[in-house]
Amino acid sequence: MSSSGRADVLVLGSGPAALAAAAHLGEEGISVRLLAPDPEAPWPAEYAAWQGELPPFGDGGPFSHSWPSVLVGLGGSEEVVLDRGYGRIDKAALAEHLRARCARSGVTLTAAVASGVRHHPASSTLSTSAGEMSAALVVDATGHDPVLVRRPPHPPRAAQTAFGLTLELDGPSPFAPDRAVLMDWDDAHLGPDADHLPPSFLYAQPLGEGRLFVEETSLVARPPLPLPELERRLRLRLQALGVRGREMAVERCVIPMGGALPDPGQRVVGFGGAAGMVHPATGYLLPRVLAGAPSLARAVAGVLGADDSLPSEAARAGWQALWPADRRRRYALFRYGMEAMLTMDAPGTRAFFRAFFSLPESEWSAYLGDGGSTPRLLRTMLSAYRSAAPGVRGALRAPLTAGEGAQIARSFLPGGR
Ligand SMILES: Cc1cc2nc3c(=O)[nH]c(=O)nc-3n(C[C@H](O)[C@H](O)[C@H](O)COP(=O)(O)OP(=O)(O)OC[C@H]3O[C@@H](n4cnc5c(N)ncnc54)[C@H](O)[C@@H]3O)c2cc1C
Repeated sequence: MSSSGRADVLVLGSGPAALAAAAHLGEEGISVRLLAPDPEAPWPAEYAAWQGELPPFGDGGPFSHSWPSVLVGLGGSEEVVLDRGYGRIDKAALAEHLRARCARSGVTLTAAVASGVRHHPASSTLSTSAGEMSAALVVDATGHDPVLVRRPPHPPRAAQTAFGLTLELDGPSPFAPDRAVLMDWDDAHLGPDADHLPPSFLYAQPLGEGRLFVEETSLVARPPLPLPELERRLRLRLQALGVRGREMAVERCVIPMGGALPDPGQRVVGFGGAAGMVHPATGYLLPRVLAGAPSLARAVAGVLGADDSLPSEAARAGWQALWPADRRRRYALFRYGMEAMLTMDAPGTRAFFRAFFSLPESEWSAYLGDGGSTPRLLRTMLSAYRSAAPGVRGALRAPLTAGEGAQIARSFLPGGR
């Protein structure tokens, strides 16, 4: 921080993205002020990830609970077991780890709400509930509906919605203790009209000691499937499974997915949900945030550390680090997959996942994860198409005629978005 108290970078938010960005920027030698309504507040949501997708942190590793395999239910007694480890992220440990790194690198915390920004050639002035603050650069990590970052309204976003309960069980659990339920599409408990309802699935984490986290999830829908409908379905499902217990906590989840990427020419750099970094086909974000924070920090520090550099150049470098050409292409492909899911009814969705999870693990995990390359992703998508039943293939082709094909083609052009 300069003697006037001005930071080089103001980071807005105190969620996973803001803390990761602030920690890495601080470690690059940048003076950082992190600003949020309550910078020390615990994160409200529960997070999970595949094993191996998160960098190690703290002493105990990234998970508070982990399972060596997960189950996918495809209706009736049809099930697929995926022998890939999955875990519930130890969010308190992760937050503490990132906060400690922020503290060590001199990041200062301010309790305030940001409301607007004005840009000048050599700085930006942020309006906040605690007064005006200036910095060379502003990083907006205020989540999926960011306070400053602009995103074009078209194509429109869809959303993943979920209603979840943490239960202390009264009786035995119907779920194996060593297996999380990634998705169970069985919907017999919804009665004869089930096939005509927008699809949703059960997600379940057996937590041991008589505790269970269950969530009824709409993978993606536009308009989003309302939370009261998901709650209704979850309660019917639990009744059908004979699951009863004391409700310890409720989770209400809305994750906007897809849509246009933010304009990379803007002076405020986004990060996390604010930068459209959520995986448009799965709703996951944390692995990408934790893996992406070092490159964002290096890119920004590289420019701000140079003599006579302009903040607009630092912003451009930041956006370029988040959304290089290969990532934009993958985003277009993932969004294509998301648009295809939007066209599928419940039987079509089950048929799609029957084909998808019949692929080798290396292929399905390339699609669900954050790593990989465009050619690998394309190979997976073509394999899934070839493995799918004819009716599902029609749904997988549908986005081509809805403009997504043109969008993918544009993303492959030099400088394309
Ligand atoms: C219920 C739920 C469950 C999820 N589960 C998973 C999961 O299992 N795995 C996964 O990878 N992803 C998951 N996600 C998606 C994603 O990882 C989360 O949404 C994640 O919290 C996004 O991180 P973020 O830091 O970008 O934004 P947020 O966590 O939303 O943080 C935004 C921050 O900005 C602050 N803020 C807001 N407005 C202002 C303002 N005007 N000025 C200053 N600060 C402001 C807020 O106080 C908050 O600290 C889930 C999302 C939800 C909602």
